[in-house]
Amino acid sequence: MNIIDSNGKLITTICKIEEMISVHSVVCVKQVPDTSEVGIDPETNTIIREGVPSIINPYDLHGIEAALHLKDEFDGKVTILTMGPPQAEAAIKRALSFGADRGILLSDRAFAGSDTLATSYIITQALKRIIDEERVDIIFCGKQAIDGDTAQVGPGIAARLGWNQLTYVVGINEVNIDNNEVRISRKLESGKEIIKAELPALLTVVKGLNEIRYASLPDMIRGARAEIEVWGEGDLELDESKIGLSGSPTQVGRIFPPPEREGGEIIPGGKEDPKGAARVLAEKLIGKEVIPNK
Ligand SMILES: Cc1cc2nc3c(=O)[nH]c(=O)nc-3n(C[C@H](O)[C@H](O)[C@H](O)COP(=O)(O)OP(=O)(O)OC[C@H]3O[C@@H](n4cnc5c(N)ncnc54)[C@H](O)[C@@H]3O)c2cc1C
Repeated sequence: MNIIDSNGKLITTICKIEEMISVHSVVCVKQVPDTSEVGIDPETNTIIREGVPSIINPYDLHGIEAALHLKDEFDGKVTILTMGPPQAEAAIKRALSFGADRGILLSDRAFAGSDTLATSYIITQALKRIIDEERVDIIFCGKQAIDGDTAQVGPGIAARLGWNQLTYVVGINEVNIDNNEVRISRKLESGKEIIKAELPALLTVVKGLNEIRYASLPDMIRGARAEIEVWGEGDLELDESKIGLSGSPTQVGRIFPPPEREGGEIIPGGKEDPKGAARVLAEKLIGKEVIPNK
């Protein structure tokens, strides 16, 4: 908007904030129990959650880093979106302490028990509200969460928004905002695949994409003091029949630890007769159908 004085001379130009932000990324971040520290109670066969620290899902840290990198490169903005209980606010504060700008927590009892379909629905409705307020260029998700492990939420959101989805992203080669294009590398079992796609797009990222930065002291203080916006059921346009436990087509019927591993077996005589020991090993593996009998 141009401000003109009474003689018609241009005094100043005021840009809308939206026009000044060159790249706006939203990172979907899940707070998860640190599964490397989760134990199984041998008496009750249930997961021991007490005393287990909650962390940001490790894949999501790479999404945060990628978004912050774009912010640094293009003078952009990073919004963090989390769905979870009130304690999940800690994950958002941590993300802000790395340098993210805005944090939104989706928290409501009505959201509890949501499976991946319901989770991606609620997160998408929140994203639509954000997109209504300001342009979003890229959404980052982790490849998967280390607790649920389904890797379904990111693609679920992309499908609901009708956006390009780029999964297993291991490299962001180029972001061209003028042409609305992104070029990325995807990790495949047998190598890498380079893809060019139109923005806006949703990327699910894997470890190895980047090195996570250390938080700066001013950002850590800002993160700790930040007021987190909390959006509940009433703040979003939601179809009640699609959220929470009752809106979830899948429900976990039982949870139990995997059976304990059998003890190992040492095949003797390898030093004196390596070929013989290898034959015995091969026979055992064929017997257990670990390798085919060819
Ligand atoms: C032990 C256990 C028991 C469960 N029991 C039930 C049950 O009985 N009934 C039921 O309906 N559900 C249950 N759930 C919840 C549900 O299955 C998933 O946790 C949830 O739908 C998300 O799927 P996911 O964790 O596999 O995420 P993934 O699809 O693996 O996550 C991929 C990415 O999506 C994003 N993402 C995922 N979740 C969120 C989030 N909440 N906020 C922001 N971003 C997110 C992150 O970027 C993440 O890296 C249970 C979960 C666990 C761990």
